[in-house]
Amino acid sequence: MSYLVLARKWRPQRFEDVIGQNHVTKTLQNAIKNDRLAHALLFSGPRGVGKTSVARIVAKALNCKKGPTPVPCNRCEICKRITAGNEIDVLEIDGASNRGIDEIRQLREEIKFRPVNCRYRVNIIDEVHMLTKEAFNALLKTLEEPPPHVYFIFATTEPQRIPATIHSRCQHYEFKRLNIIELKAHLKKISDAENLGLNEEGLHIIARQAKGSVRDSLSLLDQVAAFGATTAEEVCQALGIVETISIQQLATFILKRDVAKSLEIIDELYRFGVDLQSIIEQLIRYFRHLLIIKTVKDPKILGTLIDLVSEEIELAKELTKSYSYSDILQLLNKMLDDFDVIKKSTNPRIRVELLLISLCHMEEVVCLEDIISKLDNLSNTPLREGDKEKNSSYEENLYKTSNNSYNINDKLSYDDKIANQPKPCDSISLDSFVTYLKNTAPVIASVLEECKSIKIDSNNKLIIFCEHEWAVSFLKEEEHKKEIEKRFRELFHKELEVEIRLFKSDDIDQTNNKDSKKELMEHPLVQKAIDVFDARILRVDMNDFSLK
Ligand SMILES: [Zn+2]
Repeated sequence: MSYLVLARKWRPQRFEDVIGQNHVTKTLQNAIKNDRLAHALLFSGPRGVGKTSVARIVAKALNCKKGPTPVPCNRCEICKRITAGNEIDVLEIDGASNRGIDEIRQLREEIKFRPVNCRYRVNIIDEVHMLTKEAFNALLKTLEEPPPHVYFIFATTEPQRIPATIHSRCQHYEFKRLNIIELKAHLKKISDAENLGLNEEGLHIIARQAKGSVRDSLSLLDQVAAFGATTAEEVCQALGIVETISIQQLATFILKRDVAKSLEIIDELYRFGVDLQSIIEQLIRYFRHLLIIKTVKDPKILGTLIDLVSEEIELAKELTKSYSYSDILQLLNKMLDDFDVIKKSTNPRIRVELLLISLCHMEEVVCLEDIISKLDNLSNTPLREGDKEKNSSYEENLYKTSNNSYNINDKLSYDDKIANQPKPCDSISLDSFVTYLKNTAPVIASVLEECKSIKIDSNNKLIIFCEHEWAVSFLKEEEHKKEIEKRFRELFHKELEVEIRLFKSDDIDQTNNKDSKKELMEHPLVQKAIDVFDARILRVDMNDFSLK
């Protein structure tokens, strides 16, 4: 006994058996029931979603001994012959191999005669867009005045290639690509009925790999069944594809710009016998998922757009957090650009490696929004060193703001929060300190006005340089020092120790210039900025804190 492939064995024989095309089958059934079916029908849609199967069911519905009926019996001779493809009145023509004017002329001659066994002659022309211009013209004459005993059903994957004159004379039915949930349910039904013993993950992989085509999903199921695969791992082996986990690892290393690790994964997969082209195809699909996850926040819409299982979605979400939308986009674009080259290459391995290397060398794109929010955070960061708790909350804060979609309300409430926070000392001018002192400690203010300069060093010391000995001794008095510290704390909410020094001309400008530069470079704020932006210092321009 020969093995009947699943796609043929499970070919739908009734409108109710067609999956995922309810909008089409319901309308057709109504049209048949109410005798409103047009004599020319156009079925368009991706391959393997049931166009020719439905065309055959229509032929049966029109010709069934109990019909015309929206529910053909599938038992009468005519139904059986149509199912078997042996009914001479139901003609299936492949438009790709019968595309010339002669074939269409012959068809026109034949349909002049009344059907032999059936009520109607039904002509199903598959891949109708392949017909030549002349053939279409010949067909047009028939469609303008079709004989009452003739129906035409045209099926095509490319409806845009059908001339408008033909198109306008047809009732158009659009078949859709199936989503992964529909396909998976269908595969489960068949797997159970055929005792294939596939688990959920295995079925999920097959459904995903079929890209919306029922026929493809069943061919893959045949392949998997022949292999005897039941688990996800075995299914991947049977189909020669990579498990999502490997693709996810590869994506992570590419985002991290880790060339060595990326190449290592490719090498492992290559040695495992995986087709490199399919790896890049899966990688492209995975980056598409990342991009959608990054941009679509509604979980319901997200679920219909991507075909990952929930744990995979969580992992992908986690991964996208650290990278900008623009970065994922530029990597994806590069992969798409190179994919065609890889497909045509006689040495795909080198091409794939080149692609990975160039991906890992692409500069990471950081959104301006991210930078602004990082800067916002930076200027509001508690800077005391060793303050681990505050540092970690800062990290969290940074994390949150840099990854949220920036909604105007968020921005407002964020700004409100900042307004209510004490003003950090580093973000405002020290001039304001003297102005403040004029109201609270006028004597000290007037002495400070005579001072040369003021600065905060890396040890959080407020150093005041005085030009005159008298000012030094005045400010050095414990009472005055305490007053300055207190006022400073009041205004800037920052605890500082005050040190008074006599200013010498080479104090800051020359001898200390190096030290000051070093101090500046070691300043916690600068260190933080280096951290956040993964930056390095190229140049230091001295612009010391001056009171005047
Ligand atoms: Zn019948």
